[in-house]
Amino acid sequence: MIETRLATVSLENPDVQIIAEAAEVLKKGGVVAFPTETVYGLGADALNSEAVQKVFAAKGRPSDNPLIVHIAVRHQLMELAEEVSEKGERLAKEFWPGPLTLVVRKTYLVPEIVTSGLDTVAIRMPDHPVALALIEEFDGGIVGPSANLTGRPSPTSANHVMEDLKGRIDMVLNGGPTDIGIESTVVDVTLDPPLILRPGGLHKESLEDIVGPVRLASEEEFLRRSPGTRHRHYAPNAKIVLVDREDVEGLKRALKEFRQDGKSVGCIVHSPEMASVESGVFFKVLPAPIDFFARYLFRTFRELDHEGADIILVEQVDEGGLGTAVMDRLRKASKA
Ligand code: AMP
Ligand code: MG
Repeated sequence: MIETRLATVSLENPDVQIIAEAAEVLKKGGVVAFPTETVYGLGADALNSEAVQKVFAAKGRPSDNPLIVHIAVRHQLMELAEEVSEKGERLAKEFWPGPLTLVVRKTYLVPEIVTSGLDTVAIRMPDHPVALALIEEFDGGIVGPSANLTGRPSPTSANHVMEDLKGRIDMVLNGGPTDIGIESTVVDVTLDPPLILRPGGLHKESLEDIVGPVRLASEEEFLRRSPGTRHRHYAPNAKIVLVDREDVEGLKRALKEFRQDGKSVGCIVHSPEMASVESGVFFKVLPAPIDFFARYLFRTFRELDHEGADIILVEQVDEGGLGTAVMDRLRKASKA
């Protein structure tokens, strides 16, 4: 066990002293959790294998799941990327800082442990004042997988990070709840057309506005090209069961059956039809728009765990836009 320092940072004007302290921890090979606009990340010096190893150890992350390197300014890209395709450049110019991760060919400087031995590296510039201040002060790329124990819902507050990682990391920067609530969109721009390896905070439609057709990887391609996607993910302790959209009878039936088995059942719904089925602390309504559902999904998983749910019934959302990323997370969480 190590002592984990929790420091609150103002978003308007990230406290210089705290940022300097956190950057110092990174320079010494330590591990610092930090807020981004998607979820909290677990930071370490991307060019220091020993520091990166600590991130894998703290999360209990399998070594075949490569990490995303976070940068704050464009010139940091040149140190990490051997080559960025023309479409990759256009996407970076349009969407950085933002919830877009680009997979590019790596330079020899990026250690194998970061990329799990792949010859590509995933890079993103987060759109968050605290993340950017930390990376700029550190003056180099930092790895930043979600700051949770592997398999658990991603952390959308500093409290969630402490819940999972207190005693396992050096420091947590508390910048309040995150905005988007689910992870970045990962796009392989070594291929043409570019290939989405993980749907996320930036929609396919927005990518296509800039570079024309983009493909969403098939299940088989996910497994081959984005090794991380094969592992258990995003799941609370309770078992997640998906229910069809607006299927009031299906929801009532499932509630009845699980309760007959003596289970404590939580629900997460969004449509007005489903919202009127029950009420109470076990019955969570996350109404439209979908941004709201995404922002609160992982937090609500953790809340229902705390309230002692054995099962969580979740109303599915429509695919398209952010809905594609939400359904990706729901499917993975329900497979656990
Ligand atoms: P996380 O750090 O949990 O947000 O997950 C990072 C995601 O990016 C995982 O799905 C990885 O498989 C994917 N990823 C990271 N680096 C690469 C890479 N070089 N090639 C393909 N996918 C990658
Ligand atoms: Mg993760």
